[in-house]
Amino acid sequence: MNFSRTRIAPTPSGYLHLGNIFSFAVTAALAERTGAKILLRIDDLDRQRVTPDYIRDIFDTLHFLGIPWQEGPANAEDFTQHYSQLRRMPLYESALEQLRNSGQVFACACSRSRLASAQPCNCRNIPLDQPGVSWRLRTDHSIPLTVQTLSGIPVQTTLPLSMKEFVVRKKDGFPAYQLSSVADDDHYHTDLIVRGQDLRDSTLAQLYLARLLPRSSFPQNVFYHHTLLTDGPGRKLSKSAGDTSILYLRNEGRKPEDIYALIAGRMGLPAASHYRELAAPVIEHALSGNEQM
Ligand SMILES: [Zn+2]
Repeated sequence: MNFSRTRIAPTPSGYLHLGNIFSFAVTAALAERTGAKILLRIDDLDRQRVTPDYIRDIFDTLHFLGIPWQEGPANAEDFTQHYSQLRRMPLYESALEQLRNSGQVFACACSRSRLASAQPCNCRNIPLDQPGVSWRLRTDHSIPLTVQTLSGIPVQTTLPLSMKEFVVRKKDGFPAYQLSSVADDDHYHTDLIVRGQDLRDSTLAQLYLARLLPRSSFPQNVFYHHTLLTDGPGRKLSKSAGDTSILYLRNEGRKPEDIYALIAGRMGLPAASHYRELAAPVIEHALSGNEQM
C-alpha cells in the first residue's frame, strides 16, 4: 500500500506525554513504510487551553525524540505566523455555511452540565445567529458509512449513538473539532489517518459530516486506529498526570532511548530504543490485515 500524506496532529493543551509519542511513533513508522509524507498539524482552536509553552513543547519534544516531519511549521514562530488554525477560519466558516444552507444544523442553547447529564437536548427553533448557541447536526443513525482500512477491506457501519446530534460549531463561534479536522484533512490532502482507538467514534462522526460537504475527499482516507497507552485497564492516560509528560522525564535525565523503552514496556511490546523499533510490531500486525480498523 502507498500513500501520499499522513499527519501528526497534537493539541497544545498540555505537555506531550507517553501516549502521544506512541501515536506519533506508529504514524511515522507507517508513513515511512508506505511512502507517505508527514505533515505536522497543530490543532490550536481551543483558545481557553492553548498556551505558547505547550506549542513550544511540541517542537522541543519531537526534536528530542527524533520524530520526523516533512511538511508544516518548522518552529513555534513559523506555526503562529503561517499554520495556526486561526489562519484557516474561512475554510471552516465555508463548511459551516454549507451545512447551514442545506438545513443540516440546528442551534442548541443547552448548558454543558445539561449535555453531560443524560437529559436530551430539546432545543428547536432557536435562531442560528443567536449569540452563545452551539450548532448541532441533525443525525440519522441508519445511514451507511464506509471506513477504508489498511487491510484494503472496507468496513461498513453507521453513526454510533454516542455521536447523536454532535456539535459542529461551539458556543464561542469556533468550529468544533470534528469539523475543523475534516476541513483540514481535505485542505492538506491527507490520504492516511492514524489515531488512537478512542477516536473511532470521532472518525465515524467525521465520515458522516464529510458526506454533507460536497467537495470533501475525506471519505477516501484510509484509517488506522491504534491501541491506546493507558494508566491501567480502561483508564485513559491523563494529560494532567505530570509524570508521564516527556518534559518531566527529560528533566529527570531520561534519554530518548529510555522513553521508547518505557513506552514499549507499558504497551507490552518488545524492547525498543527508537520510534521505528517501537512501532515495527504494531504496523506489522496492522498491515497483515488482522485488524479491522
Ligand atoms: Zn440543546
